[in-house]
Amino acid sequence: MNRHAWRDNANCIGTGDAMFPDSDQKRIEWARNICAACPVTQACLRDAMNTGDNHWGVRGGLTPEERRSVKKEINRRLKQAERAKANA
Ligand code: SF4
Repeated sequence: MNRHAWRDNANCIGTGDAMFPDSDQKRIEWARNICAACPVTQACLRDAMNTGDNHWGVRGGLTPEERRSVKKEINRRLKQAERAKANA
């Protein structure tokens, strides 16, 4: 199975540059609303996080800055868990 088959059901198909709102808050909210109604939000966000696509566009309802922040927090917690395990 094509690992990107989920894209066939993306709610943003045909939305042009709507998912690339730069820092315009109204356009960001518009893009978030498109994601909110999307049936493949989890797959999209997982793909963005796994592939490091955290520089452009709203994915899974999160801006690039938000995705980088989530990634940073996950990495912080993983390191914390590794340290705790090493000290156990
Ligand atoms: S979650 Fe958003 S960016 Fe991802 S496929 Fe759906 S509409 Fe597109």
